Amino acid sequence: MTAEIITVGDEILIGQIVDTNSSFIAKELDKIGIAVHQITAVEDERNHILSTLEAAHQRADVVIITGGLGPTKDDLTKDCLCEYFDDELVLNEEVLSHIKLLFEKYIDTPFSELNRQQAFLPASADVLFNRYGTAAGMWFEKEGKVYVSLPGVPFEMKALMEEQVLPKLQESFKRPFIVHKTVITYGMGESSLAEKLEFWEENLPDYIKLAYLPNLGKVRLRLTGRGTNLEQLEDTINKLVTSLHSIIGEIIVGYEDENSIEVQIGHLLASEGRSLATAESFTGGRIGSLLASPPGASNYYKGTVVSYATSVKQDVLEIPEKLIQKHSVVSSQVAEAMARNVKRIFKTDFAISTTGNAGPTKGDSEEEIGTVFIGIATPAGVYSKKFVLGNHREKVIGKAVNKSMELLLE
Ligand code: ATP
Ligand code: MG
Repeated sequence: MTAEIITVGDEILIGQIVDTNSSFIAKELDKIGIAVHQITAVEDERNHILSTLEAAHQRADVVIITGGLGPTKDDLTKDCLCEYFDDELVLNEEVLSHIKLLFEKYIDTPFSELNRQQAFLPASADVLFNRYGTAAGMWFEKEGKVYVSLPGVPFEMKALMEEQVLPKLQESFKRPFIVHKTVITYGMGESSLAEKLEFWEENLPDYIKLAYLPNLGKVRLRLTGRGTNLEQLEDTINKLVTSLHSIIGEIIVGYEDENSIEVQIGHLLASEGRSLATAESFTGGRIGSLLASPPGASNYYKGTVVSYATSVKQDVLEIPEKLIQKHSVVSSQVAEAMARNVKRIFKTDFAISTTGNAGPTKGDSEEEIGTVFIGIATPAGVYSKKFVLGNHREKVIGKAVNKSMELLLE
């Protein structure tokens, strides 16, 4: 079973945007055991799109195309697919009323004939209704092969992949789901662990595999399950982890989480009913932006003060001028005061702050470029850490954001 991804758009070929769609699609297909053998980017040009579709047909069982579904003249994907499948466009009333609704609610310009055209879709395609945008996705089948056309806008493409395309592919090709869960243990060697787990391991169902991954005092135990029923698979793996706890609970230190760090932080805070605020200087709100991105963030994240200028640290965060003069604005004392004050002002349980010198020139402080302080306020007290993160502005900011997220997770 092989797949091929085609991204359509001049923007990719002139380097204006990075093709993140292909990377997302490849990762998702890999999870359901469909290997991607080729990724092609093609320009907005009819003959080129048609010849790429033809070539993909020779090589792959599944072809996923993104981009070029918009209403403008340069968006050619739908017309090319229509021609390729020798099909005709018919009006889809459901899509039409959805587009009109989007215009009424969210779009400033009046609904036009061009927008109406987006509701005309190839008669032989299964329409993949796009609740976030005006361009519907399409699913075609030809000689046992599947072609899926998706909009280029990343969040629209992702929603269609997750909600419609992947389940439909799984159903069509009976692909098994693959679920991994990795338990991290510390303090027992691989062979002693294997001895302790011998009986447990022998009784694992045959669709679950166990791997020992030792590294420097840590042994990661990876459970991998394959099956067609995702819920049942996850349930089995969770039960196995629970039983693992009853045997070696004292050496389990955690799990390898495939969630992004902001989602992990969110889970922790939400599960404990705790709240968080941030006070950022040179990171300019990037930490706040990350923390606010998971759905449900409002349950634990209160907000950030982007106190970039020293005066804002004084006026909004109430940092005494004297403290700044005494220790410099880039100092552990100021970082700690920022965290302490934002925690108080926002009435949260935790707070994190950043102050530093990202370069390329020294700002309001004499600290060496790359020097940053991260302050953490918890219910138990306030502390800070100093880091020297290099001499490139983007690098210093990026690393400081990552460090802050790591510290929060601790
Ligand atoms: P629209 O209806 O918005 O025009 P479309 O299906 O025609 O959607 P495109 O015009 O190709 O899609 O792309 C819309 C936007 O989505 C692009 O400007 C770009 O920002 C983003 N985009 C498109 N293709 C990709 C891609 N392969 N990777 C990442 N982003 C992409
Ligand atoms: Mg477009």
